[in-house]
Amino acid sequence: MDFKQIIPSGLCLECRGCSRFSEKDSMWSPLLLDEEIEYLKGKNLLAGCDTKKKKLTTILNPIDENFVCAFLLPQDNSCRIYEFRPFECRLYPFLINRGKNKIYLAVDPHCLFIERNAATKQFQEYADYLAGVLKSPPWTRVINEIRDVIPEYQDVMNISEL
Ligand code: SF4
Repeated sequence: MDFKQIIPSGLCLECRGCSRFSEKDSMWSPLLLDEEIEYLKGKNLLAGCDTKKKKLTTILNPIDENFVCAFLLPQDNSCRIYEFRPFECRLYPFLINRGKNKIYLAVDPHCLFIERNAATKQFQEYADYLAGVLKSPPWTRVINEIRDVIPEYQDVMNISEL
């Protein structure tokens, strides 16, 4: 169950935005699906998961005193579980966003790649592709699984109703 990525990994490694949070219980900390919790449990990585809230655990980053995902290696900005990172991590800077009585595919306009590319044909084509993927099975099941806990993000751009 996967989908194409649009952002070159080199750009992500340069940026210091993702996987960092201003609060310990940030709404931006990725949600975990039940199957992702089971998978991480099988790999003995449950210490990085808040299984009660079904979210990745955040820890204080001694470098800048913000909070970071427990799986982030701040020294080189890499992810310890990159190959099997959760759905919401693979989706970002796209997000599942709660609107008034509706659920949307949205994008975070503060992502460096989006700032530079939001007006391009490449971005539009990818956004259409992603919306199509998320409106089809098995992704409709995933959206339904998280429906009750989908956050209402501030300052994001809704792209397509899901
Ligand atoms: S699991 Fe990896 S990609 Fe996801 S928030 Fe943590 S460090 Fe970032």
